Amino acid sequence: MSERRVAIVTGAARGIGAAIAIRLAADGMAVAVVDLDESATASTVSVIGAAGGSAVGIGADVSVASDVQRAVERTVATLGAPTVLVNNAGILRDNLLFKLSEGDWDAVMSVHLRGAFLMSREVQKHQVEAKWGRIVSLSSTSALGNRGQANYSAAKAGIQGFTKTLAIELGQFNVTANAIAPGFIATDMLRATAERMGVTFEEFLTGAAKQIPVRRVGQPDDVAAAASFFCSEEAGFVSGQVLYVAGGPQD
Ligand code: NAP
Repeated sequence: MSERRVAIVTGAARGIGAAIAIRLAADGMAVAVVDLDESATASTVSVIGAAGGSAVGIGADVSVASDVQRAVERTVATLGAPTVLVNNAGILRDNLLFKLSEGDWDAVMSVHLRGAFLMSREVQKHQVEAKWGRIVSLSSTSALGNRGQANYSAAKAGIQGFTKTLAIELGQFNVTANAIAPGFIATDMLRATAERMGVTFEEFLTGAAKQIPVRRVGQPDDVAAAASFFCSEEAGFVSGQVLYVAGGPQD
């Protein structure tokens, strides 16, 4: 590769997004670390900087079109035109269907689906121009159905259909689109779930590990390794795929 690729990773202040941003920077990319609160991106940006990489922190709500446009413009101005996009920002608003509010349905759809749509639409302009690009979007094993997650599982199944369509439409421009569907990954997102279930995070992790064939829960770096592959030069013939990163097979 002659020039340095520029990547945007959303929801990269912490958790899986932070691990992906740090990994892509280690792979040689300049990375825009996008998250709701710009000040929260500082730790990811400084880890990348300390390792000799290049990163900028950008505050944006991925579900707001004007924020997305500004975030991409700032990326272009500070790092160069982005040709790698990782749609990772996400929220949980779990509840059983009969208690699920319209607000919690809409919030989850907005961040996961509308966010991935807006970011991809904005970044593809640069990818098409460069005749090279990588889009990776975070799905979940919950796409296959999960009690208490009608909103989230619908959004994560939607990400899979969205990804396959992008792969079909953008392939002619040498742009690939793939999805990663993690199982149980130890992040703050699940800390909140443990709290709601009335167990400590440690009890929650131990219980979950027993159900997973490799007998451990996943770590953000497990997902970052998969993202690194999909974003690599060598993965150019892999498109429209959903990779389950879950420590075992999924139905
Ligand atoms: P996390 O620790 O909660 O981090 C998510 C990040 O996204 C947070 O920094 C959050 O900011 C940010 N964010 C939320 N809404 C946003 C918006 N509208 N615009 C920009 N940024 C926004 O979550 P995670 O566990 O790392 O999950 C990352 C992705 O993997 C999500 O798409 C999630 O659904 C998916 N996933 C996770 C697991 C798992 O086991 N952890 C499994 C399968 C799939 P705030 O902190 O300000 O809210």
